[in-house]
Amino acid sequence: MLDIKNLHVKLEDEDKQILKGVDLTVEAGKVHAIMGPNGSGKSTLSYVLSGREGYEVTDGSATLLGEDILELEPEERAAAGMFLAFQYPVEIPGVGNMTFLRSAVNAQRKARGEEEMSSSEFLKVIREKAKDLKIDQDMLKRPVNVGFSGGEKKRNEILQMAMLEPKLCILDETDSGLDVDAMKLVSDGVNALRSPDRGFLVITHYQRLLDHIVPDVVHIMSDGRIVKTGGPELAREVEANGYAEFKETA
Ligand code: ADP
Ligand code: MG
Ligand code: MG
Repeated sequence: MLDIKNLHVKLEDEDKQILKGVDLTVEAGKVHAIMGPNGSGKSTLSYVLSGREGYEVTDGSATLLGEDILELEPEERAAAGMFLAFQYPVEIPGVGNMTFLRSAVNAQRKARGEEEMSSSEFLKVIREKAKDLKIDQDMLKRPVNVGFSGGEKKRNEILQMAMLEPKLCILDETDSGLDVDAMKLVSDGVNALRSPDRGFLVITHYQRLLDHIVPDVVHIMSDGRIVKTGGPELAREVEANGYAEFKETA
């Protein structure tokens, strides 16, 4: 599904190499986790995959379902099936949550050459999904994320993910200081959306999130590279021993 080969990335306006040859494959139906010390390049990887400005790919490739995503605009990446959830959800004053979601869903459909969802169909689908996620109707009408509590923002993020039905979900939860309740929301949401044709890349500094979202594969990133890959036990090993041994490896 996601195939990253020898990815090298530097800052655009500084002579600083951040990713130094990342190799990573995420298969459909699998949850891959990336852990690693602060500053190892985890967030940079998710930013580059999302198409954020300020980074320059100097070597390597990244494809989603065979398509070169690094050449695409951020909205084209979304249309191709990529969804990115970040630590700090954007607030959009003046735009109702439901209106925002409807235009996001329809923009994605349009980019795929599909018909728009009618407003009655959209209402039906969003009400069902909101109910599943225990999101009340009031939250659907409020401006996107404005004045939402941390838990409401997380719930809303999962709702966005559920509505867009992405092929690949990337979550960067590093250093987000998720409390236990928010962590449970995120992990329940991810677990509910796990499916044979959907892959996940879950980025986290801490092991505790991975107690709830049990990954199929765990990668350790250090100094801009994946330095070790294993099963869920690798996350527990890191929890017990810290990242020191991987820093030496790098
Ligand atoms: P992680 O998410 O693993 O903590 P980051 O990807 O945030 O790591 O950062 C990797 C390295 O790149 C760090 O040394 C960080 O300071 C640097 N870095 C990332 N983005 C920028 C930027 N826009 N300007 C300056 N330094 C940056
Ligand atoms: Mg960091
Ligand atoms: Mg980070």
